[in-house]
Amino acid sequence: MAASPHWPYRVPRKVWIPVLIGIAIVAFMVVPGCAVYVAGQRVPTYAISADTEDFAITNDIAALHYYGVGGWGVKWRGEYLIMAPYFSNHGFLGMFGKNGPDLAAIHEGVRNTPFSDAGLILVGHGHVDHAADIPAYAAAGLRPKQAGMIANETTLNMLAKIMPPNESFRCAESPLGNDEPTKDCTLRGFRVTPLASQHAPNVKVLGMEFTISKGTVDEPQPQLPARPVDYRLGNTWAYLIDLLDENDEIVLRIHYMDAVAGSEHSNISASLLQQHKVDIHIACVPGFHYVEDYPEWVMDQGQTGYVLMGHWEDFFQPRDDRLKPVTLVLGESKLNTFARRIESGKSKDARHISPLNKSDDDCPVDAEVCGPRGDSWALPIPGETYHFGVRAGL
Ligand SMILES: [Zn+2]
Repeated sequence: MAASPHWPYRVPRKVWIPVLIGIAIVAFMVVPGCAVYVAGQRVPTYAISADTEDFAITNDIAALHYYGVGGWGVKWRGEYLIMAPYFSNHGFLGMFGKNGPDLAAIHEGVRNTPFSDAGLILVGHGHVDHAADIPAYAAAGLRPKQAGMIANETTLNMLAKIMPPNESFRCAESPLGNDEPTKDCTLRGFRVTPLASQHAPNVKVLGMEFTISKGTVDEPQPQLPARPVDYRLGNTWAYLIDLLDENDEIVLRIHYMDAVAGSEHSNISASLLQQHKVDIHIACVPGFHYVEDYPEWVMDQGQTGYVLMGHWEDFFQPRDDRLKPVTLVLGESKLNTFARRIESGKSKDARHISPLNKSDDDCPVDAEVCGPRGDSWALPIPGETYHFGVRAGL
C-alpha cells in the first residue's frame, strides 16, 4: 500500500495533549483504587448512607452534611440550605454524549436528608458537577417553588427553562459581587453574601492549562444543556453563609468555595471580616497546587477555625464505586499536604472550633463511618454529617 503523502506529519500539541489526557483518565478509571491514608488514618472504602438522626438537632447546633463533590447541606434552626449536589457522575466519556441527570442516583444520594425541605440552593459556577443535576431536583422531591436559587448569570441562563416564572423555583438571583448579601432569594436564619472568585485550571500538563467547558451563556436558553460538557463555567463565586440567631446576629460563619482560587483572584473584604471571622471553610481541594497560596490565604485572612476538605473524591466514577481521589489531579500525598498546610497556616487568633460528633466513640477505628480528621480539619466522606455548636465553648 502506498504511503499517504500526508504521513508522517506533526500532530499539533494542542491536539495530542488532550488526547493523552483522555486516554490517561480512561485508564485510571478502570484501575481499582487502593487504600488511602491521610494523617495516618485510613479513608473509608465507600460512601456512607445518611441517617435521619444526623439532622435531629437542637437550635444551638448546625449540621453540615457532605453529599459529595461540591454538594453540601446546612441545617440550621429548622431550615435547610444546599450547595447544589451532583450524583449523576456521568463519567469522562459520558460527558460528551446526550446524558441527563440520573434520577435513581439522585434519589439514593439525598435519601434520609432534608433535601425536599431545602429553601435555598447555592451554585458557585456552572460546570457539570455543580449544575447538571439541578433540572432533576423537583423530580427528586424538592417541592416546586419552595426553594430559591443563587447562581451566576450563565447558570441561570442555561437553566432558564426551570427558572421563574416557570415551575421549579421560587426565585433566582445572580450575585452582584459587591459584598452585599443577596436580597431576593433569602432564607430565615441565613444570610448569604456572594464573593467574586476564580476557577483554577482543571488540569495542568507540561505547563499547559486545561479548563473544561469555559465560557459564558449570555441569553436565557429555551432548552436545557443536552450534554454534560455543555454546562459552561461562567463567572465563579464563593459564598459567605452566615447563620444568624433570633436577633439576626451572626453565630457561625461558613466560607464556601467550590473551585480553587488564590488570593490574587479571591478574597473576603476587611469590612466583612470585621463583622465576624470565618469559623468553617468548606474547601475545594483538587487543583490547590495550581495556585500560589490556597488554602493559606483563607486560613490567614479569615482567621479560619476549621476546614472541611471537600470535592476530593473522583466523580468520574459511579458514586457507589470504591472511593478514590480525583483522577490525575489529586492523590494521597496531595491530600496530606493540604491537611498539613491547613494546620501550619492557622492563625493564632483563629477561633477554636471542632465538630461535636466526631469523638473516638462516634468514629470507632475501622468502622468506616468517619473520614480522617485533625485538630483543624476533616476529610469528609460522601454521606457524612458534622455537628457544630454555636455557643461559646462548644
Ligand atoms: Zn468546575
